[in-house]
Amino acid sequence: MDIERKLVSDQIIAEVQPIEGADAIEKVRVNGWWVVAKKGEFQPGDACVYFEIDSVIPCVPQFEFLRKGCYLKRDWLPEGEGCRLRTIKLRGQVSQGLVVKALEDESVRERVVKFDPPVPACLAGMARGNWPEFLRRTDQDRCQNIPREIREAYERGDIFEVTTKLDGSSCTFAWKDGEFYVCSRNVNLKTDQEGNSFVGMAKKLGIAEKLEKFGMNVAIQGELMGPGIQGNRENFSEHRFFAFDVFDIESQKYLPAHGRELDLTEMLGIEHVPVIRTGRLESPEVADLLLMADGPSINNPVREGVVFKRIDGQFSFKAISNRFLMEQKD
Ligand code: AMP
Ligand code: MN
Repeated sequence: MDIERKLVSDQIIAEVQPIEGADAIEKVRVNGWWVVAKKGEFQPGDACVYFEIDSVIPCVPQFEFLRKGCYLKRDWLPEGEGCRLRTIKLRGQVSQGLVVKALEDESVRERVVKFDPPVPACLAGMARGNWPEFLRRTDQDRCQNIPREIREAYERGDIFEVTTKLDGSSCTFAWKDGEFYVCSRNVNLKTDQEGNSFVGMAKKLGIAEKLEKFGMNVAIQGELMGPGIQGNRENFSEHRFFAFDVFDIESQKYLPAHGRELDLTEMLGIEHVPVIRTGRLESPEVADLLLMADGPSINNPVREGVVFKRIDGQFSFKAISNRFLMEQKD
């Protein structure tokens, strides 16, 4: 479950722009998101309710118009069905999410869920206990949701490491006070179980022994990739783990980027996510960040996107490729 991400929120229309060659529709901006709307429906400054992409909206009369293009039925949805918002293109214009003036039924707010299919059996595994309170989850903010923070970072001249966002499954290996931990995105897993891919990768890398020798209370966070995971779009013949962060449990901070890649690969023999470039943001505009998101990953010509990490380790965000979103088949 995504706790950070707010799928439905009260917002203000920031901007309204025409779409070339279209008379009946125009585009409106909410934060960094552009959404296609009926012409004249919204003016800048109007209050609205915004639904982010991947919202699954309950089947209620106000949203019947979504049924035609977005209806889906899934056992794992709390209501068994709903309408999923995807990234679409209308008259050449990318449209992400949905804006309405107001909700007819306020219960919709609580009933919207994220399109988030259950993890495959090889990744689920047996839980050891609650999520360790000394670790952080690996979530990243989307650039569309934090345009102001990004502009400030640009104006300060903050330096960012731009890394390829790999589309696998989040994985954390941690060592704390003589104990080894393996966690999936949300679950603290039993480390002695058979058949779980995260635990299997820990064994294969000998990560517990390496961290023990290292002797520090740290967590290595990365993406598990390969057969059976997210359609294995990189076409790997076996599972591979790519680290993207090292978290210092003592100070409760991510380590700075400097040396992370080298330390991990040289000292621990762990692969690192590809680093595309390191430098200042070339632009603070969401549209430009999204252009950077388009491009190849390791073997896949269409990557999921990029993750911008400020080199002090204290601020990061993701830009998801619209090309990737529009090609997505699930
Ligand atoms: P999402 O997959 O949209 O929930 O975005 C956040 C997730 O991206 C994190 O939880 C990580 O598992 C994953 N991820 C993949 N590549 C990277 C990367 N280079 N840096 C940070 N996170 C990444
Ligand atoms: Mn992901």
